[in-house]
Amino acid sequence: MTIGNEVFVYNGLPTRVVFGSGTSARAGEEARRIGVKRPLVLSTPEQKNEAQALAAKLGMDVAGVFSGATMHTPVEVTEKALQVVTESKADATIALGGGSTTGLGKAIALRTDLPQIVLPTTYAGSEMTNILGETSEGRKKTLRSPKVQPEVVIYDVELTFTLPPRLSATSGMNAIAHAVEGLYAEDRNPIVTLMALEAIRAMAEGLPAILDRPRDPAARAKALYGAWLCGTVLGSVGMALHHKLCHVLGGSFDLPHAETHTVVLPHVVSFNARAVPEKLAPVAEILRSAGPGQGLFDLTNRLGAPTALKDIGMPADGLDRAAAFATESPYYNPRQPTREDIRALLEDAFHGRRPEL
Ligand code: NAD
Repeated sequence: MTIGNEVFVYNGLPTRVVFGSGTSARAGEEARRIGVKRPLVLSTPEQKNEAQALAAKLGMDVAGVFSGATMHTPVEVTEKALQVVTESKADATIALGGGSTTGLGKAIALRTDLPQIVLPTTYAGSEMTNILGETSEGRKKTLRSPKVQPEVVIYDVELTFTLPPRLSATSGMNAIAHAVEGLYAEDRNPIVTLMALEAIRAMAEGLPAILDRPRDPAARAKALYGAWLCGTVLGSVGMALHHKLCHVLGGSFDLPHAETHTVVLPHVVSFNARAVPEKLAPVAEILRSAGPGQGLFDLTNRLGAPTALKDIGMPADGLDRAAAFATESPYYNPRQPTREDIRALLEDAFHGRRPEL
């Protein structure tokens, strides 16, 4: 973004960030720093052992480990966790995991105002935002509130070594989607643009290296640094068509979150590149490609990640419905799509065609 006569607003996020290798050893110290005396450690059932190990090394009284976090932050799970919070007299949560576990910590904070410390183990980026998506009776609702913004985030590169290469790839593409939409966000600004481009560069270097060497500290550090910046972009500016479409597809057809982002992104970027070529040209440049959508598509292929909606559970007879849902209510996008535009875009994404731009 060139600085000229344009007026812009930049809101710095209040979250304290600790980044590095082995930094989870500092979780106890960070908790004491903000006055926490009895935290509840949160995780998914799959990451219970890691959560228990973290609880054991905090060096403080611990309220316990709640390992029931699950996808889409169901309100029933939050209610169970709230009961544990009350009974154990917890005064904070420490979430160790991906977006699902972070989501549970946020849902608890929304209702109790308890401080949150998050140790992210994927690249989803939720830890850097004031956004919470919750599901109740099969419907997902998304809200923004300063109450859900975590107080402290501890990025420990070593916690990501076990993230399987396929999950690393899709989680990384999910992160890149936040950065890319930050480039053409309605409330974009030069600081966020800087972060977004740096993030895409770090991800584009880190992710292919992780595929070859999943425990390579340098590759993992690059990707996690990129994920932090991508999450910051998501937390700082509004998103557009890509996030809207993924929300519709995830919510209405129960498609997997990170995979959906991975498949849809190249097509939305190619669509938007016709309206704002100058904003997306740096993406093509970073990816050494003729077009930004093509570059993202080729990166996905190189990572062995899915490129077609038909391969991740999308029914062919759902495309019309998805296009209708996506155009039901107005939202910002640099290029206003018609229902036919969305239908054509989804058709390409369904079959995994390489975008034109
Ligand atoms: P996830 O948290 O659901 O994790 C997926 C699986 O991977 C889980 O079984 C988890 O235990 C496992 N896992 C995580 N890290 C691991 C590691 N290092 N090693 C081995 N296994 C590991 O997946 P996600 O993609 O991080 O999060 C998706 C959710 O986050 C969605 O519900 C999405 O809506 C939400 N999200 C929210 C925001 C926001 O700002 N509110 C942003 C991004 C994503």
